[in-house]
Amino acid sequence: MGPDLIKYKVSYRNVKYPRLEFKTGELLLVLPYGQDPKVFLEKHRHWIVKKNKFIRECLNLSSDKEVVKRTDEEFKGLILSLVEKICKELDLRINKVYFRQMRTKWASCSKKRNLTINKLMRYLPEYLIEYIVFHEITHIIERRHNKRFWGIVAKRFNNYRELEQDLFRYWFLIQLSACRPIPFGIK
Ligand SMILES: [Zn+2]
Repeated sequence: MGPDLIKYKVSYRNVKYPRLEFKTGELLLVLPYGQDPKVFLEKHRHWIVKKNKFIRECLNLSSDKEVVKRTDEEFKGLILSLVEKICKELDLRINKVYFRQMRTKWASCSKKRNLTINKLMRYLPEYLIEYIVFHEITHIIERRHNKRFWGIVAKRFNNYRELEQDLFRYWFLIQLSACRPIPFGIK
C-alpha cells in the first residue's frame, strides 16, 4: 500500500521543520505554514508504509483482545485501591493521583511522586492496569528502565515482557477507538 492510500491529517503549525506522528495509530503530518503535504509524503514514503504496516499488524494481533467497559467511578476506585495495595507492598508513598487523557503514554510518575493515569486505561483488563500501576510506582525507586528497574518488576511480574507486548497491542486499539465517533467499532 502506498502512502497515498493511507489516511492522514495535516496540521499546520508554527514549526521550523515538518514531522510525522503516528502516536494514536493515525498518521498526522505537522507542517510549517505553506508546505505542500504531497512533497513531504513522497519523501518519507518508505517510513510511512513501514510504520503503517506495523500498526495494522498490532491491530490484527489485538483483534482478539477484550476491551473492558467500566464506569468512571469503577475505574478510579480500581486505580486508587491498586495504588494503595502496591504502595504497601513496596513500602512507598504516592503524593497525588491525577487522571488525564494522554496521547503518548499509559501513565507516568513524577519526581514529586505524583502519579498521572491515562483515562484510556479504563478500557484495559485488570491484569494490565495492575501491571502499569506497579511499573509506575517502581519508578519512584528507579527512574530509568535499567537492569535494576526490570529486576524489581520481574520479582512481581516475571512475564513483564509479555505484558509490555499486550500493552502495545492495546495501545493502538484503544487510541483508534477513542478517536472514532462510534467507540470500539474494531472487531
Ligand atoms: Zn517506565
